[in-house]
Order: sequence, then C-alpha cells, then structure tokens
Amino acid sequence: MLDQYGRNITYLRLSVTELCNLRCRYCMPEDGVCKKRHEDMLTEEEMLSAIRACASLGIRKLRITGGEPLVKPNLVSLCAQASQVEGIEELCLTTNGVLLPALAKPLHEAGARRLNISLDTLDEEKFRYITRIGKLADVLRGIDAALEAGFEKIKINAVLIGGFNDNEIADLAALTKRLPIDVRFIELMPMYDSGDFGPEAFIPYTKVTEALPELEPLPADGSVARLYRLPGAQGNIGLISPVSAHFCKECNRIRITCDGKIKPCLHSPDELSLKGLSEDEMREQLRSAIFCKPQWHGELSYTARSRAKRNMNQIGG
Ligand code: SAM
Ligand code: SF4
Repeated sequence: MLDQYGRNITYLRLSVTELCNLRCRYCMPEDGVCKKRHEDMLTEEEMLSAIRACASLGIRKLRITGGEPLVKPNLVSLCAQASQVEGIEELCLTTNGVLLPALAKPLHEAGARRLNISLDTLDEEKFRYITRIGKLADVLRGIDAALEAGFEKIKINAVLIGGFNDNEIADLAALTKRLPIDVRFIELMPMYDSGDFGPEAFIPYTKVTEALPELEPLPADGSVARLYRLPGAQGNIGLISPVSAHFCKECNRIRITCDGKIKPCLHSPDELSLKGLSEDEMREQLRSAIFCKPQWHGELSYTARSRAKRNMNQIGG
C-alpha cells in the first residue's frame, strides 16, 4: 500500500518481545526492562492476525525482532505459521545469535530464510563490556550454526561506536572474506536512553570507507545500505546511515511492537494500538498508520535525540 508521500510499504518489522538475554549499553538499561503485564502484550494469535492484516495491505517481507526474539518460548511455532501467511514472501529474523546453536535449524525448518546477527566486536572483553553480560564465543557458535542450517543470507550487524570498535572496522569487514556472510556497519542512533556514550561515540559511516580504501562500490539492491565489497570477498559490506544521511525517502517499512503498537516511523512518538482488535479492525488501523507515515524521522544527532519514547529493545531496531 502507498503512503501519503507515494512510498510503497512492503516491509513489516514485528517485535515479539522486549526481553533480552543481553544488555547492550546502547540499547537497554542495565537492570533490563520493567516487565509489562502479560495481558498487555499481543498474543501469538494477535500477532498472526496482525501479520495477515499487513499481508492483505501489501506487506511482503516480514522481519521478526525484539528484544531478543529467540528468548520467546513459542517463536518457532510463530515463525512456522507466519511463513505460511498468504502474501508473505520472505521471513527474516534479527538476533543476537546467542541461542542460535539450538534454534538455527528449527527456525530454518519453520520457513525463516534470512538472518541478521548482531556483533559489534571480535574481542571477548569488549564484547562482555558492550553487552554487559554476554560471551563472544556464544555468538560465534551461533554464526556457525546459522551457516550450517543453510540460511539463504546471513548478515552481521555491527553498530559503529567511536572509541569502542572504530579500530576493529577492518577485522569485522574481513569476516566477509572468511565466510559467505555480509557485514553491515550501522550508525549509532541516539535513542531515548542509549547508554552513556558521549559525542565522540556518534561516528558517521564514512569512517568505514576511510578505514577501507580498497572497498569496491556495488550497485544498490533496494535495501537501505550502501553496498561495497572487499576484493576477493565472499560477502558484501553494507553501510547504514540513519543519522548522517537518512534514507526516509526510500523507507518501505512499518513496525509493530510486542505490546501491540504500530510505529509508522522508528523515530516518531506516534503509535496506534492493535491490542484487542479483530483482524478487520487491525487492517483499518494499519491502513491509517501506513497512510500517515511521517515524511522523515526528524533531525538525529548526539544532541537531537530520537523522538520515539522507547529504547531500541522496545522497538526492534
Ligand atoms: N536482539 C536482537 C539483536 O540484537 O540483533 C534484535 C533486536 S535489536 C534492538 C536490533 C538491532 O538494533 C541490533 O542490530 C542492534 O545492534 C540495533 N540497535 C540497538 N540499539 C541501537 C542504537 N542505539 N543505535 C543503532 N542500532 C541499535
Ligand atoms: Fe538485546 Fe539486541 Fe538490544 Fe543487545 S541490541 S540488548 S541483544 S535487544
């Protein structure tokens, strides 16, 4: 369906939980989330109704996200049903990878075809620091499990953080030489409470092209990333710049949170509720949300923070 600015909205990001088994400093507070009431969350049936309603309005790509989606107990069953919804052509997940050794195969069997795995550093101690509680080895095992399970596409998402991982750009990018995966560098977004990072932490995507002069540009593939490849690599490098060069003109997505709020724009405070609605009512609510999608997300910088009144684990990225 077209929004009021003529953008064709074909991509839904559905956050299935706010809970997470990590505590990334730029994403959520150290003490986790204040658990919401179970009855305020979308049920599995409501999530499926919302997916069907979205598909009937032209959504073709579905990404399951969180919090950490893999901590949701009924995730495999939800994916198996979601992948069968008429109109949904592509089922993808974004995960921190920790639970992939157990779940990569069942998720692939349930119809998931693409995985984005978040990994900001290849250093064990830095990994523990940025995630507050995580073990790097778990994610590396998760990547191996995903490769073994046969996903069509695996992308590593690394958030660019000045003073933290800007000295690891080459090492992270080199993963595309060793493995058949893409690596995408994403600018740190100044969320409601995205940790204790100062202005030096917000570095532009151009740091990557400066650090890797050998990058060869590739034609755009319709995603939000600028694409490149290292000579001889098996996968691509993607640069995603929501802060320094926003891509709102090409935005084709809407989001639904696990508490049933449609977010027509990641950084807007506007939300419309789906909780408790029938599938037909959901369709009408989604139609208005898509039509009214804001033209752009407004200024974002270290001082101009996102207007979304949520942290990233409550939206899904
Ligand atoms: N837990 C899963 C994961 O980490 O991949 C999925 C949810 S997480 C909120 C989705 C993506 O948002 C991750 O790639 C994460 O790195 C990114 N993210 C979280 N907070 C961010 C921020 N402040 N700026 C940029 N990216 C952020
Ligand atoms: Fe959890 Fe993902 Fe947020 Fe890290 S980025 S705290 S893994 S939801």
